[in-house]
Parts: sequence; C-alpha cells; structure tokens
Amino acid sequence: MSAGVLYGAKDLRVQQFAVPGLSPGMVLLRVRRVGICGSDMHYFQHGCCGSFVPSRPFIPGHEFTADVAAVAADVRAPAVGARVTVNPARACGVCDYCKAGRGNLCRRTIMLGSASTTPPTDGAFAEFVTVRADQCHDLPLLMDDGVGALMEPLAVALQAVKRAGAVAGKRVLVTGGGPVGLLVMLVARAFGATPVALSDVVADRRHVALKLHADAVLDPAAEHFPERVREITGDGFDLIFEASGAPKALRQAFDLVRPGGTIVQIGTLGTDDVPLPANHLMVHEIQFIGSFRYGNVFDEAIRLVTGGRIHLDPLVSEVFSLAQVPQAMHRALAKDDVIKVQVQVS
Ligand SMILES: [Zn+2]
Ligand SMILES: [Zn+2]
Repeated sequence: MSAGVLYGAKDLRVQQFAVPGLSPGMVLLRVRRVGICGSDMHYFQHGCCGSFVPSRPFIPGHEFTADVAAVAADVRAPAVGARVTVNPARACGVCDYCKAGRGNLCRRTIMLGSASTTPPTDGAFAEFVTVRADQCHDLPLLMDDGVGALMEPLAVALQAVKRAGAVAGKRVLVTGGGPVGLLVMLVARAFGATPVALSDVVADRRHVALKLHADAVLDPAAEHFPERVREITGDGFDLIFEASGAPKALRQAFDLVRPGGTIVQIGTLGTDDVPLPANHLMVHEIQFIGSFRYGNVFDEAIRLVTGGRIHLDPLVSEVFSLAQVPQAMHRALAKDDVIKVQVQVS
C-alpha cells in the first residue's frame, strides 16, 4: 500500500509500505479521508512531538473516515463495508480507569499514528490501517468523509465541555482559535452557553470565529481588552476554556474568570512549569481543571452533527491527495488562514 512515512523533521516520504496484518479482535480499514492534527504537524516539523520521539520511521495520522475492509474471525461489529470513524486511543479496557469509564486516563493506551509508545504505532496517512473493533464508530450515510474525519477533534471539544459541567446560560470564553478552540466554541453554543466569546491574537482566526457565529471575538493584545471583557460579561466569564497552549493566555484567564468560575486547560503548553496565582485561585474559589483527549463521546459527537446542532463543513479548508501529504503538511503549518487541512486517500 502507499503511505506517508515520517523519517524525521520535514522528511515525510510517500512510499510503499506493508499492509498491516489482522490479529484477533482487530479490523482492517481502508482509509478514505484523514485530517492533519497539531500533533501530526509537530512530528512533521520537529521529527518528534514533545517527549514522544519515534524509535523508527512511522506513519502519522489519527483523525479519519474509513471503510471496513476485513475483520478478524472473532469480530462481530463493525461489519465489512461499513463506513466508520475511529477513536484512535486504544485503552486497555481492563484497568481500574477503563472500568470506571475513564479510559482516557488508562496508562496502557496505544495511540494510533503516535510515538507515545515504543515502537510507534502506524496511523492513517496510509491506504490501510488496523484498529481494535471497538475503536470504530459507524457513520451515518449523510455525513460526508470530511466531517467524519472531524469527529476526533470534536470529541476532544466535547470532552472539555463535559468536564466543565453544566454550561447552559454561562458566560464562556475560549482562548485560542485553532480547530479545537473553534470546536469548543461550537459545542458550548450548542449546549446553551451565552454569550460565547473567542480570543486570539491572530486576526484571521478571530475572523473565522465570527463566521462560525461567535457572539464576540477578542484580541487579548488590544489596548482596550479589559473594557471589552467588562462590556461583554460584566465582571468576568463563568467559564474559560484555555485552548491556545500559550502560558500568557492561561495566566490571563485567572484575571478574566469570575469568582467561583472554572478554567479548563485543553491546550498543550510548551512547558510544564507555568507560575499560577494560587492565592487568587484560593480566595475566589476558582476551579482549574484539565481535559485530556476524550472519553466515550464519539457517538454523541456524531449525533450532535447529524442532529444539526453543530455544522462542521466550514472547518475543512483544503483537501490534498495522498501523494501530496508533504505539501498538505506545509499548508497546514501556514495555519493562520487555514483551519483544517485533510488528505483524501481513497
Ligand atoms: Zn488530533
Ligand atoms: Zn485501561
């Protein structure tokens, strides 16, 4: 099969690769459409993703739509021929976290298209990929391949909003207008938050957020930023989703959240150690919580879209072919004016 194989920084080669074999419990998928995620861009740009350094060349990619090409003898679902999207995080299924329904915290998770384990796990910038049967989620006929490949980042957003608790009627700010930030904005709106504002230092991204019906967009570097926040909220936001990964945005969130409010960290920060105003947090009973990947939210994500609560078509900026994966990566890296770049494999 053809696959985009990453050899190192800026060295992604489209070449022939062995079709993965089927073992018990697994299904073989023929990839249709795959999206480029921030982590894929990290691997492409630096040859690694934070502390995840691949021990051999590997195939990235984990946001995708596929057809089921074959299933192992012991697999009852999905059916051969079904069109599915995939939860790329394969938790062990038997540990205490998995049993408690918190599989996103499972220590034995194998992530598709990732070097989080050694050796790395080959992903979906390929004609074929294997996953465990229970990682597959059937897609409705009417959902197109591009939107199907957005179910993974939508699941990230959905998980974050669920971590925050009830959001209906809350004043919400999303910091960072990348794909996940925009998706959090859309989910919060769908769940009844109002107003929902988005902040980003990049004008193009604020513009996109407005097109996606943000109630307000904010430039955190603007001179009158604090006045704008007061205009929108009175004395601050009930809930802030930090989706930029910028230490400055996180620090600022503590000034923008109301007493008793909540800050949810979704963005990955470039460093582990960021000074926090702990006394301010204590005195105002601010909750600061994390959200990682997704729980069992894929089917709910699919329903939100098919039910018309969230419209994702505008998020797909450009589609390349598998032979053009390196170009697609370069395009995604020029990210100010693109939201989601995808690759049509078959
Ligand atoms: Zn992703
Ligand atoms: Zn587990």
